[in-house]
Amino acid sequence: MKNGVVIVGAGHAGVQAAASLREEGYDGPVILLGDEKELPYHKPPLSKTFIKDVAAQPQPLRGETFYTGHSIDFRPGSLVESIDVPARRLALAGGEDLAYDHLILATGSRPRILPLPGTDLAGVLSLRSVADARAIREHSAGCEDVVVIGGGFIGLEIAATLAAGGRRVTVVEALDRLLGRAVAPLIAEHVRKRLEASGIRILLKTTIERIEGDNGHVSGALTSAGERLPAKMVIIGIGVVPNVELAQAADLAIANGIRVDQQMRSSAAEIFAIGDNASYRHWQTGGDVRLESVQNATDQAKLAARTIVGRGSDYGAVPWFWSDIGDMKLQMVGLTAGSDRQMLSGDPADNRFSVYHFIGERLVAIESVNRPADHMLGRKMLGLGFSPTPEQVAGGAEALKAALAALPAA
Ligand SMILES: Cc1cc2nc3c(=O)[nH]c(=O)nc-3n(C[C@H](O)[C@H](O)[C@H](O)COP(=O)(O)OP(=O)(O)OC[C@H]3O[C@@H](n4cnc5c(N)ncnc54)[C@H](O)[C@@H]3O)c2cc1C
Repeated sequence: MKNGVVIVGAGHAGVQAAASLREEGYDGPVILLGDEKELPYHKPPLSKTFIKDVAAQPQPLRGETFYTGHSIDFRPGSLVESIDVPARRLALAGGEDLAYDHLILATGSRPRILPLPGTDLAGVLSLRSVADARAIREHSAGCEDVVVIGGGFIGLEIAATLAAGGRRVTVVEALDRLLGRAVAPLIAEHVRKRLEASGIRILLKTTIERIEGDNGHVSGALTSAGERLPAKMVIIGIGVVPNVELAQAADLAIANGIRVDQQMRSSAAEIFAIGDNASYRHWQTGGDVRLESVQNATDQAKLAARTIVGRGSDYGAVPWFWSDIGDMKLQMVGLTAGSDRQMLSGDPADNRFSVYHFIGERLVAIESVNRPADHMLGRKMLGLGFSPTPEQVAGGAEALKAALAALPAA
């Protein structure tokens, strides 16, 4: 009797892994354990629409009948507490223990904590789960002023969504630019100007010294410049940390995430890690990365399933990501690490442009604002290892399509 595959974490990666095992023809037991009580849901809409629409419901990753229909034993509200690697068993909160042949750790990540006085006040929130999103929605109903700490993707999405819902929002960012080092300076600057024009106040090179309260509820935040920002809600969006504790306690190798090889195997051959919690050597840059995106979670899940059924190949998916910030759809494909030449296509004044990144002549990434065609072509070009000439980039989507069409068939 097979013990089958046990998957810990029922988010984007875990659910895809369960689905892919069945698609790959795996016929043993598949047990999907998630500590949340919800039917697994899409996370990206939480910061983009859910928090401003009181009627919005979570969008399920798969319909309720999917799990039973594919003989996937989905167990919500199941928190895994420890793994016994030599015995191939794991223990759940509540005392149950389960045996596995293969274990997939898809435990994701959680918001980084800001060690500041006042973070325990009611109304100080962060966003990862639908429960967090509901709390933000409830608190924002009765508040005019919001402070968002952190000018990364999630912080800015939340800021833009709440501002569109009529809140006065101030974003406080420690660095001298938005979006950290994640995008080209031109894009970070464009986003800043556009958000400011929409009424959001942005304080760069500023930190929060403490969060102040009144009767246990947040009332404001004091900046490093000595300004007191009134706020009935403070949202902390300063990045995430991978959930590696289970793996760490089981002595699996950890390095900014659970260390995996090119087929998603951890340092124990029958244990896999996928999604936000996995760190690996990237095929494009040769450097170690841990990516936080739906694409990364999905593609790694598919590969882990293929590896388990004996059809694994080296991970080679082209990384891509999107973020909707106000009226800007940002789309990134490839990795900009090491980029030594950038080329602009389109005009930021139109709120539609792309930045192409090259290392020498080689295309390594494209970052787009409201130019979905560039992004889709970028996925194709990077997938094929094709690098356009400056003339082709300048010629826009039509010239790039023509260049791709002229490639000899593989
Ligand atoms: C608000 C928000 C907006 C986002 N927007 C975008 C976007 O626009 N584009 C994009 O590409 N990405 C976006 N992301 C990132 C994307 O959602 C993540 O990269 C993706 O969810 C990673 O999938 P995962 O399965 O690794 O982790 P998750 O989806 O976080 O799933 C992990 C699950 O494991 C559970 N878990 C953890 N430990 C245990 C345990 N011990 N026992 C049982 N269960 C456990 C967690 O509770 C969670 O349910 C966004 C994320 C958030 C939070």
